[in-house]
Amino acid sequence: VMGELVATIAHEVNQPLAAVVTNASFCLRRLAEATPDPDELRPAITEIVNDGTRASAIISRIRTLFMKGAPDRAELDVNDVIREVLQLLRNELTRNRVSLRIDLAPDLPRVHGDRVPLRQVALNLIMNSLDAMRTRTDRPRELLIQSAKHPDGVLIRVQDSGPGIDPGQADLIFEPFFTTKPEGIGMGLSISRSIVESHGGRLRAVTGCSGALFELTLPTQD
Ligand code: ADP
Repeated sequence: VMGELVATIAHEVNQPLAAVVTNASFCLRRLAEATPDPDELRPAITEIVNDGTRASAIISRIRTLFMKGAPDRAELDVNDVIREVLQLLRNELTRNRVSLRIDLAPDLPRVHGDRVPLRQVALNLIMNSLDAMRTRTDRPRELLIQSAKHPDGVLIRVQDSGPGIDPGQADLIFEPFFTTKPEGIGMGLSISRSIVESHGGRLRAVTGCSGALFELTLPTQD
């Protein structure tokens, strides 16, 4: 999974960099002329700025998503991880007028996991829900976070009242660089899935319900 991801990332960053080289070479050729025309140079330089910004945004977004030092596995209560993330997002939820329902099962078995990346996964899912619900002004914005015991270990569900996931795109959204957002990078779900799978778990989108529903399972020790 990682090799594939790296290849796609390299491709995605190479495109804007290749465009930067083309535009910069064009500018150099024009500047070698007797009277370079600033109006001809300006759009090329603007594109250089935009492409450079895009390449650097991709890299920094990926760095944040992968942000973790050496693997640091410990026995975790996933409810704690959820609570930490919700605490972090408290102002964001209020600002977006989201009504939050939390339904966490008590006495969940512990998960052998790495807290920082798992927190990142939960953060990603919730931020995606906020983005999705922001596009709808005609419905109340409701976010439901649940945890429960599951035959495979523990189950976490994140459900929102946004437009939901097109059944035809339920797998596509986990592809690297698939995004429907103007400023999106499309790395969140693919990296989230690889983090979950590195824990022996699964992350999927459930279609056919109102809004989007993501289900994450993580295995427990016993
Ligand atoms: P990004 O957020 O940069 O687009 P992601 O990999 O996190 O990247 O998401 C990929 C795509 O999946 C989004 O662009 C959107 O189309 C879809 N998606 C993710 N979460 C939701 C959600 N809660 N509701 C509707 N669509 C979603």
